[in-house]
Amino acid sequence: MISKILIATRNNGKVREISRILADAGADGINFLQPDDFDISGSPEETGEDYEANSIIKARYYGERAEVITISDDSGLEVLALDGFPGIKSARVNAPEDSDKSRYETLLEMMKDVGASDRRARFVCCATVYFPEVDNVISVTEYWNGEILMSAVGEGGFGYDPIFFDPVVGKASAELTTEEKNRISHRGKAMKKLWEKVKLSRE
Ligand code: IMP
Repeated sequence: MISKILIATRNNGKVREISRILADAGADGINFLQPDDFDISGSPEETGEDYEANSIIKARYYGERAEVITISDDSGLEVLALDGFPGIKSARVNAPEDSDKSRYETLLEMMKDVGASDRRARFVCCATVYFPEVDNVISVTEYWNGEILMSAVGEGGFGYDPIFFDPVVGKASAELTTEEKNRISHRGKAMKKLWEKVKLSRE
């Protein structure tokens, strides 16, 4: 029986989504904890070359210190016309202390001459679980395809949500409720698959 899980991030937008996704996937009744609940100071340097490497760095950093099952996420936005930028650097467009708004405005400015037919993009999420008792990890990567809008729309979500448009749903990510976003998003799909693997590993 799993009684508690550490969500290995200091990003409140991610915490909100991950705890909801896992609860809806059947992890209800489990106590979701955050790094501050363990007095874990600082955060690891994300020195990996891809999402999976960084996701594992985060799961291990927090999980080894807290010694409880730990779930992390490394994610980013890849814009086709910018050769995949910002990708794994999505949180580091502009200075770390700058706002999400300043980051998506930088991206909109970089894309001001990119035409409507060329604005394809995708969100990527690698979700990792760390099991302290066996010092092992499992990772899952998923994607969400869409387009970059010409200007920001909506109030929900976090990060680049106001400029990411899902043409199938016909809405910007920031216009979706958390439930709607979790059903189709990179994070929703990756976390659900990861949770299935966690359940299998405990049987
Ligand atoms: P990291 O995983 O901590 O390196 O940060 C990933 C960054 O990608 C976030 O800080 C956001 O800027 C962006 N990002 C990842 N997932 C989402 C999402 O679901 N919506 C909007 N932005 C996202």
